[in-house]
Amino acid sequence: MNKKNVLYVKNLNKIYSKNSSKSIKAINNLNLEVNEGEIFGLLGPNGAGKSTFINILAGTTIKTSGEINVWGFDIDKNPRQVRASIGIVPQEVNIDPFFTPRNILELQAGMYGIKKKDRITDTILKLVSLEKQAKSYTRSLSGGMKRRLLVAKALVHKPPIIILDEPTAGVDVELRSNLWDNVKLLNKQGVTIILTTHYLNEAEQMCDRIGILNKGDLVALDTTKNLLNRIQTKIVKFKVNTKVNINNNSLKSTNILSNEVNELVLSYEKSSIGIDEIIKFINEQNVKISDISTDDGDLEDVFIRLTKN
Ligand code: ADP
Ligand code: MG
Repeated sequence: MNKKNVLYVKNLNKIYSKNSSKSIKAINNLNLEVNEGEIFGLLGPNGAGKSTFINILAGTTIKTSGEINVWGFDIDKNPRQVRASIGIVPQEVNIDPFFTPRNILELQAGMYGIKKKDRITDTILKLVSLEKQAKSYTRSLSGGMKRRLLVAKALVHKPPIIILDEPTAGVDVELRSNLWDNVKLLNKQGVTIILTTHYLNEAEQMCDRIGILNKGDLVALDTTKNLLNRIQTKIVKFKVNTKVNINNNSLKSTNILSNEVNELVLSYEKSSIGIDEIIKFINEQNVKISDISTDDGDLEDVFIRLTKN
């Protein structure tokens, strides 16, 4: 599969300088590419530079230096075409409370110069499950509905790339999964998705590839699968018929987390010792194992390791 490169970022830098004495380096020599049709996640702790990056793509923040190409257009030479190629769902919800979802989508379509007959307002309202609220004042919508309305707004000009900045921050669990379902549906229809989130389990489930930003530095860029493979510490739980005679020196690279009459829990470094060696050791103690379960760790482990200082 050789897919088109829809976002290309080279040596991107952003320095905020409020006054001459204090300047903040928000993005430090960022290089990345996003491929057509993928769901790409940009993760990082607060202040990592995620919103800065997205605002630069949106054209609301000016980069200090570097090259950005979106859908084949250079952001400096063709800013309008870049804007037409992306739909941005911003981190901050700012919607006029006295407008209805339908008004807002129609206004947005007008801003993009889309003729009445070419508008897809109803389709979009349905996609984000707001058809029942089409004529309600937005101030009466729940937080999750307002978020979905922001997604709808980003869709009016049918951009091939949708960029979502922390779309589920402050949204309750049920609506979060509903929102992600909408995003997955868009992706199935061929839309490339770029998102930021600090809910790592969501990123793990949603994203094909992940970049991790920390204080402006890209500290990881890989497929979600490869990132998860980096986790070296595994946890294993054995159900046993009697207490195992084991201490931390019995086996190399293992650590006893708990040792009870009918359960032994260990962590071990998978690069240094195999689970078969652990099982062999337990069997040699004349202990019967009735069940084994392992825990692979998750993206949170990778994230913490890469972003702690
Ligand atoms: P994130 O979205 O990952 O939380 P931001 O891009 O919002 O991070 O912020 C990155 C850094 O840039 C932070 O140190 C933040 O304080 C700083 N910053 C963001 N916006 C501005 C601004 N308009 N002026 C000055 N500094 C800013
Ligand atoms: Mg942010």
